[in-house]
Amino acid sequence: MYEWVQHQLTLLIASPLYPVWKIFNDGGTRFFWVYILTGLALSGLIYWRDRTAAPTARMLFNREIWTSVSAQNDYFVVFISAVLRLTILSWAFLNHKAIAAWVASFLVWLGVEGQVNDGWAVSLGLLLTVTLFVVDDFIKFFGHWMMHQIPEFWEFHKVHHSAEHLNFATAERIHPAEVIFTSFLGALSIGLVNGVFIGFFGNTLTVETVFGANVFLVLFNIFGGVLRHSPVWLSFGPTLERYFISPAMHQIHHSEKVEHFDKNMGGALAIWDRMFGTHYIPDGLEVDKFGIGEETRDFRSLGVIYLRPFTRSHEMVKNRLAVFLGKADARDKQSPVI
Ligand SMILES: [Zn+2]
Ligand SMILES: [Zn+2]
Repeated sequence: MYEWVQHQLTLLIASPLYPVWKIFNDGGTRFFWVYILTGLALSGLIYWRDRTAAPTARMLFNREIWTSVSAQNDYFVVFISAVLRLTILSWAFLNHKAIAAWVASFLVWLGVEGQVNDGWAVSLGLLLTVTLFVVDDFIKFFGHWMMHQIPEFWEFHKVHHSAEHLNFATAERIHPAEVIFTSFLGALSIGLVNGVFIGFFGNTLTVETVFGANVFLVLFNIFGGVLRHSPVWLSFGPTLERYFISPAMHQIHHSEKVEHFDKNMGGALAIWDRMFGTHYIPDGLEVDKFGIGEETRDFRSLGVIYLRPFTRSHEMVKNRLAVFLGKADARDKQSPVI
């Protein structure tokens, strides 16, 4: 018991440093130092080469972007999420390795014999790397799409959209409930894919990684992943934007303009948005302001950020139930008495 308390206290003290640790050690996070450097280099290129977008590159050095109330709230949310994740909410995160082991043993139970001929190991490892990247990207898109479609979920996702300025930390300005939801979907998809590959080909395949992250995700992040949440307007051009989500396209997703609502919900690949009819290729600098309209200002309060999603969605569920039960009553009254 004493050791457990000591462990929890150590975590509590060390956890606020976790986001800083991630900057230097986690190639899977958007604000990993390598992506910050390539993002700054791309901003320099935009400043020197792209006359139209040059003012947005200059905005990177605007104090407001980094010190406004909106930005302060970003930092607070990032640190609190780290503390919650490593302490009292650590139980809420699924372990993808456990899911993979379960799926693999289920396949063995079905009679699948996982073996791989050495000659195929490299190609199959590459196939696993691509599959993990594509499935994870689709699941992230689908979870995001659900948060925009289901009003109760949208109340939580509003926290991310209420940012008035985009800076590198805004990427993780996410309500803890949404963090749990997306981590759940992520662990499920990675666990399933790994489990199927282990079941069919054994557990000797290796995923191609750089900085500890999937090589395709690293490639995507090197080409401006960190600029998605920044004032810098980096478009890939209409041809590439049919296949990949550029930072400019994600800024469209944060835009206050009605025509931009619910557009470009993808992570890296644009194909999911095309399939779901939410794809939007910007025609030049289209964004004036970020946020969710009049309600944006309310989210300058941390109380609103953390509590309003619960109260609003609770209210919605209650109303839905009342309507549902009301209808059930009405049907009962109408049903003929035999
Ligand atoms: Zn969104
Ligand atoms: Zn965003």
